[in-house]
Amino acid sequence: MTEKFQAIVIGGGPGGYVCAIRLAQLGLKTACIESRGSLGGTCLNIGCIPSKSLLNLSEEFHKIKNLSNKGIEVENVKLNLGKMMKSKDKAVTVLTKGVEFLLKKNKVTYFKGTGSFKSKNEILIKDENNKEILIQSEKIIIATGSVPVPLPGIEFDEKTIVSSTGALKLNEVPKKMVVVGGGYIGLEMGSVWSRLGADVHVVEFLDHITPGMDKEISNEFMKILKKQGINFHMQHKVENIKKNSSGAIVLTTDKDGNKKEFDCDVVLISVGRKPNTKGLNLENVGVELDKKSRIKTNKNFQTNINNIYALGDVIAGPMLAHKAEDEGVAVAENIAGQSGHVNYDTIPGVIYTTPEVASIGKTEEQLNNQNIKYKIGKFSFMANSRAKAIDDVEGFVKILADEKSDKVLGAHLIGPHAGELIAEIGIAMEFGASSEDIARTCHAHPTFSEAVKEAALSVDKRAIHS
Ligand code: FAD
Ligand code: NAD
Repeated sequence: MTEKFQAIVIGGGPGGYVCAIRLAQLGLKTACIESRGSLGGTCLNIGCIPSKSLLNLSEEFHKIKNLSNKGIEVENVKLNLGKMMKSKDKAVTVLTKGVEFLLKKNKVTYFKGTGSFKSKNEILIKDENNKEILIQSEKIIIATGSVPVPLPGIEFDEKTIVSSTGALKLNEVPKKMVVVGGGYIGLEMGSVWSRLGADVHVVEFLDHITPGMDKEISNEFMKILKKQGINFHMQHKVENIKKNSSGAIVLTTDKDGNKKEFDCDVVLISVGRKPNTKGLNLENVGVELDKKSRIKTNKNFQTNINNIYALGDVIAGPMLAHKAEDEGVAVAENIAGQSGHVNYDTIPGVIYTTPEVASIGKTEEQLNNQNIKYKIGKFSFMANSRAKAIDDVEGFVKILADEKSDKVLGAHLIGPHAGELIAEIGIAMEFGASSEDIARTCHAHPTFSEAVKEAALSVDKRAIHS
């Protein structure tokens, strides 16, 4: 007999599993289907978590090698890449198993297999042995995430020509690595392999890295990464990649038509990700996609078929785990008759390099384009006592506030723990705070967060320590 649920979630990533747990908390009999054999989606298995593990371990390796400058003599520091990879894999396993436990605890039924629409209320699940089960539900939520975009005509073999998935499990440090695309993945994974000894060359189509980020931060970021030894080739278009016995040759053309060849052992292609709707049989139910092949939804996350919802990377908006999670909660609350919503003006973005880069709200470029008058407050970590004490002084905090009302419109940070510091500004923005509200809030001394306070003071040109 076909089992009936009140809600079925297809996809067990941060969007899907969070939605399933919230639905269950709200009393709905819920199923969650995941095809990869382990929960947590791209984020836990081949994204956020393994990349942050390797970023941390490679940073530790790099720091330890350079400790003698600070009076700590360490000899014979050696890399054991196999062990490092095992440590990363352990972090992934612990967390994915943790999600399985959470589904069980919340009485969500977990189906291992690939889900596809048989009708608008029926999902067929095929497991790895091709065994099929049909389940039914009034509400169905699509949370199938995204996959890497290849370059036209070039296939990932995940050994020489890799996506982020291959870049997270190389079994040797490449001598030379070409990274195509200077965005989130290229710069995080480029940093990992550069710290472990690879000669990293970033080939970027535009004249700046991290498009969409505040330009001043993006420029500072590139300057710092260059100092760390990463090479940048801006305004270069990749024409072709040819594999050879020792790796690959990347053929590029620059903006003036000059051709260049890069010989390397590994090429990482990180030019973006695309929504994953493959195999869902959306045509069976007529769910509409937009021009970028994302599932089209209304403000309540409903598709054109009103019992079918979608969220996370498979719909419009930034492809970030916390955005997917918040949408998961909002969808569940809407289905349960509450008023779930997501504030897209306060979704932080963080790049977990050294230093970290974090951003929230409007950039200067966006404010100028929208003719919004604003004031700027800036404070450098060079003048922050905690940063000075530990000799970690690169970067600055920049706060943008409305010229008249002083309301915080955006903040952009590059520096130590920027990814943690941005949370304070997120809360301030959610509460509609002014820069003066942040400036008059007592911040512990000596902390990096004092740089946020000083930047807020600097909006009215009254920073104390600069
Ligand atoms: P996903 O996490 O992609 O999950 C979708 C799941 O659905 C997958 O597990 C897939 O197997 C499953 N699925 C697909 N089709 C079916 C089907 N038919 N039946 C059953 N299951 C199916 N974001 C951050 O916020 N911070 C970071 O630090 C960060 N780092 C990243 C690093 C890398 C290398 C990458 C690639 C991404 C990173 N991201 C990061 C982005 C983040 O991983 C995604 O935004 C997030 O995972 C999206 O969540 P989701 O639930 O929408 O989709
Ligand atoms: P991205 O959009 O961040 O960067 C892609 C870069 O590639 C851009 O700079 C773009 O100009 C460039 N590019 C595009 N086509 C090109 C071409 N043909 N030749 C050269 N350069 C080209 O994409 P990504 O780095 O692949 O990451 C995908 C998404 O995954 C990110 O947008 C982000 O949403 C998510 N992610 C987040 C984190 C994090 O939150 N820390 C980390 C990794 C990934």
